[in-house]
Amino acid sequence: MAHPPPPGNFSNEIPQNLRVGDGLRALQTPIRFLKGVGPKRAAQLEAFGLATVEDLLYHLPFRYEDRREISKLRDARMGSEGTFVGQLTAVQSKYNPRRRTQMMTASLRDETGSIGLLWYRAPSYMTKSVTKGQTLLVHGKVEQAPALQKRIVHPEFEILQSDDDLKLKRIVPYYIRPGGLPLSVIRKWILAALADYARYIPECVPERIFERHGLLNLAAALAWLHDPPIDADVLSLNRLSSTAHRAVIFDELFYLQLGLALRKKQRTEHASTTVIRKNQELVSRMRGLLPFKLTGAQERVLREINQDMQSERPMQRLVQGDVGCGKTMVAWLASLAVIEQKYQALWMAPTELLAEQHFRGLKPFADALKLKSALLTSTTAQKEKARILEQIECGDLQFVVGTHALIQETVHAPRLALGVIDEQHRFGVLQRLSLQRLTHTNSHSAAPEPHMLLMSATPIPRSLAMVLYGDMDVSFIDEMPPCRNPVETKVYGEQDRRSVYESIIAELRRGHQGFIVYPLVEASEQLQQVRDATQMAEKMRHGVFKEFGVGLVHGRMTAQERDDVMRSFRDGKIGVLVSTTVIEVGIDIPNATIMVIEHADRFGLSQLHQLRGRVGRGSAPGRCLLINRSQNNALAAERLRAMEREHNGFKIAEADLALRGPGEFLGTRQSGMPDFRLANLLRDSELLMTARKEAIDWLVKDPELRSAQSSGLVEVLKHRWGTRLQLGAVG
Ligand code: ADP
Ligand code: MG
Repeated sequence: MAHPPPPGNFSNEIPQNLRVGDGLRALQTPIRFLKGVGPKRAAQLEAFGLATVEDLLYHLPFRYEDRREISKLRDARMGSEGTFVGQLTAVQSKYNPRRRTQMMTASLRDETGSIGLLWYRAPSYMTKSVTKGQTLLVHGKVEQAPALQKRIVHPEFEILQSDDDLKLKRIVPYYIRPGGLPLSVIRKWILAALADYARYIPECVPERIFERHGLLNLAAALAWLHDPPIDADVLSLNRLSSTAHRAVIFDELFYLQLGLALRKKQRTEHASTTVIRKNQELVSRMRGLLPFKLTGAQERVLREINQDMQSERPMQRLVQGDVGCGKTMVAWLASLAVIEQKYQALWMAPTELLAEQHFRGLKPFADALKLKSALLTSTTAQKEKARILEQIECGDLQFVVGTHALIQETVHAPRLALGVIDEQHRFGVLQRLSLQRLTHTNSHSAAPEPHMLLMSATPIPRSLAMVLYGDMDVSFIDEMPPCRNPVETKVYGEQDRRSVYESIIAELRRGHQGFIVYPLVEASEQLQQVRDATQMAEKMRHGVFKEFGVGLVHGRMTAQERDDVMRSFRDGKIGVLVSTTVIEVGIDIPNATIMVIEHADRFGLSQLHQLRGRVGRGSAPGRCLLINRSQNNALAAERLRAMEREHNGFKIAEADLALRGPGEFLGTRQSGMPDFRLANLLRDSELLMTARKEAIDWLVKDPELRSAQSSGLVEVLKHRWGTRLQLGAVG
């Protein structure tokens, strides 16, 4: 690895025309080259995740302590925090062999009084370095000691070398650090890193932009955060909302948004597509067939889609909306706009059941409009499949719904103008691309790309969508069809099981159906759970629900077996479906009105919301009964109670995100969530919007990123996000 020479070789002046790349490289200097950091400590820091000078500069304090007021010991008040300076008059430590800890006590005295200090577990560096006669600055909460004395347990402290008053009065930053590393040491290193390397921090985001939002530039902000001036506002520092914090966050978000905007531009720039002119005869006929009126939100999103399809760039639009908001109809009307112009629409769904459901729902309309349609899944017979593929290729079929089978074959679809992907999060990027590439034929590689419409039933907060899908356009259907009652939700405990079953029976007696859902568990628990559920289903089949029929789907069944059971449930042959796997998200069984969720405390809130969206989809209202198995856990109980009150999927997602953080919320593996050093998408969503706007404006002003300022931006961008955003040849 090539490293810049250690800092000693640099002069202390700011190099005149330091290039951004050199600066970025200098910041990658391993920590062991920093003044005062020995190899042992360096290895310790590295193991802790702090490998380079840059890591250290971005290792921001998690807390600030206000030590601007130094009190006299006479004024130490029971129960309140204070900072004191005095001399150590006695120091004792006692080893506890059973616990293998050192307990240390000391007495601190100033000219007005004295106070006891107590450490139950004193690290060895402390017992060695703290001795009688030293001047100590301590900070902590004053407590009552047994003998009516005042004391501070586990005070923060600093050994003072001189009585330099100015140095004492300050705001002290606290850092998360490896065990055994004194706070004062890590602070010293960070200050050394600032002194030697701050000048290499790239300042490429135009100053005007920072100014416009009242923010400091990046280097100044980092310096401020590590070494706050005496008049800084401690409260805002502790809330991570100081101007300096906001500057660092803005800087992170600006580059991310610039990268996303750039990726979007790269993707669509050279692609040609089919321009769908506006001529909506077929669409109006369909509107005449609709048994309902579209909601305002559906109309708005449809307009957004139509606008995209009228342009010369291929659409990439994600439609987000709560379960049951009516995404399917919007996609169908968009498909008709394409079909009307003699093109094809191909839909892809993640499971056979969902594909079937879409096809069954839309085929009657297709027939009424005299369109040719087909369903293609892996169970389609070979001969039939061959015929369908041929008809796709020659453009005979206008509307096809399929599963992965649609892209696994060597299908050519030169007339494809709109690809629709339902439950898009269940497909990988490659699968999405394959659908998009069906227009390419061997002879004709520059075929126009189809417009792509992606649908997602897992509403995620706007701020998160902006990052995850920053390179797409996102539409929100934020309104539910009228007369749709929210699913009445109630939390129960194990002791209420009887009445829970009675509720199910009452629904079944009315001719309705119900679900009993078990949580998705770890593979190690799966076998036991399958056993439990099988036993449970067996018991119910011969007991409580004897007359209604009980079906079981679990994680160890093949897709085929599962689909068979789901079909008999859909067709009303069984009344109760016990499921250990999350029921197909988009499945629509209007006759199902009641759902019991076992171990509801083990689900995420968004998941619960998704699940309960499976019931009450017909005319009868739905009920959801959550069984809480950890009733002693106040937090779990509170989360579940939130489900009783809240019925807006976006709000639930936001609460969920706040509780669990983006990684877990999205499922870490598939999330592709960027790691931020400081930004938090929920807390900083306003800054995110600002950063996005500034990034897009910048690209509009300098689309080729050719200006001198832009070339610096591009370097930093590549350094920070290049691989993660797969930014190819930028700049
Ligand atoms: P999702 O957005 O979850 O995919 P669907 O598209 O499956 O939801 O729609 C749920 C149900 O709502 C379907 O039965 C559909 O026919 C119905 N629906 C869609 N739009 C409307 C509307 N504007 N008014 C009334 N019902 C509607
Ligand atoms: Mg759907």
